[in-house]
Amino acid sequence: MEDKIKTLAEWIKDSTYTVVFTGAGMSTEAGIPDFRSKTGLWKKYDPIKMASVDAMHNNSREFYEFYRTRLKTLSDAQPHKGHKILAELETQGMIQAIITQNVDGLHHRAGSKRVIELHGTLREAECIKCGRIYEADVLEKSDIPKCKCGGLIKPGVILFGEMLPAEALRQADLETRRSHLFIVIGSSLEVSPANYFPLQAKHTGAKLVFINLDPTDMDDHADLLIRGKAGEVLEKLFITYFRS
Ligand code: NAD
Repeated sequence: MEDKIKTLAEWIKDSTYTVVFTGAGMSTEAGIPDFRSKTGLWKKYDPIKMASVDAMHNNSREFYEFYRTRLKTLSDAQPHKGHKILAELETQGMIQAIITQNVDGLHHRAGSKRVIELHGTLREAECIKCGRIYEADVLEKSDIPKCKCGGLIKPGVILFGEMLPAEALRQADLETRRSHLFIVIGSSLEVSPANYFPLQAKHTGAKLVFINLDPTDMDDHADLLIRGKAGEVLEKLFITYFRS
């Protein structure tokens, strides 16, 4: 592990453009469960039932209950050392952008500036009819929250069955093509089209690094594979090679 962290530090120092791509595993050490690992949310809920457009319309009570539970988990969570280290590495000019599948806002709260949220955010909610934006706590005020116009208010996240936001996709595509080093942290890489970015980075010449607890189907594509917890790996990397 130490040798791999040393290699990663050298690659970061040599790289002229480094992009970090995070998934739910980035936030498990902050107390927010991921979806697919042993303690993940999908072990308790069926994703298509809970986090889909269909569920919002046809299984509304359970859908909103699921999101209230997720909001509660989020309100108790703080960015961990790994989030803060990524923000510090950006300040040092070592990281140029973060593309995240996470909806928890922890990169922003840790101080990262260039963050592209591919799957939206749980910080906000939106009326599906008139587009009015609300603070997320509107979801806690009634069982099935409705806008003044009568439309359902939906969490600001991208649900199964929805397109990803075009502007976020465009930005993520641009950052990916610019990258010389592309570091994936805490993602099973099972959700598409987000999982297309690491491969795209590789095709356009970037070195590809995975930091993940469990194996993924894309491990063979990685130039460097670090099996470990995001916060712990980033802390070792930072303390040994980047603390001024
Ligand atoms: P996933 O649940 O499919 O995979 C998480 C991966 O992270 C697993 O491979 C697991 O081994 C790894 N992991 C868990 N803890 C880790 C740790 N401490 N350090 C390193 N790796 C760790 O998550 P995904 O690939 O991001 O895709 C699923 C979807 O999950 C995304 O669309 C995302 O929007 C949504 N999601 C987001 C949050 C969040 O915002 N925090 C939480 C749950 C799910």
